[in-house]
Amino acid sequence: MSQECIFCKIIAGDIPAKLLYEDDDVLAFNDISPVAPTHILVIPRKHIIGPAALTEADQALTGKLVQVGTDLAAQTGLTEGFRLVINDGKSAGQTVFHLHLHVLGGRVMTWPPG
Ligand code: AMP
Ligand code: ZN
Repeated sequence: MSQECIFCKIIAGDIPAKLLYEDDDVLAFNDISPVAPTHILVIPRKHIIGPAALTEADQALTGKLVQVGTDLAAQTGLTEGFRLVINDGKSAGQTVFHLHLHVLGGRVMTWPPG
């Protein structure tokens, strides 16, 4: 756990979040500032700053983030499609330096992303 990390504080229960899913490895909750009708974040309990910091030992965990995100997209009824996004670094728009998967849906997405 990182003392300064907002997502570690959510994991610890120090900052409230209505959890949509949790298990021993990951948590999911709604983004506080949604950019789509559905905007869910899936995060590992382990403090990893972003995808560039992943190691081979994290492969199962990474797969689980995608699986849980995809399951939540289905449960939320995103049958027309959805987008999974992981930002890495400031230029990509990362603002919280604890790995997280965005699950976005409920509107038509444009490509390329901004
Ligand atoms: P990123 O820009 O990829 O680092 O995404 C960080 C996301 O975390 C943003 O979409 C924020 O709106 C979201 N966020 C920040 N603080 C909270 C919080 N306390 N609860 C839920 N989402 C948050
Ligand atoms: Zn953290």
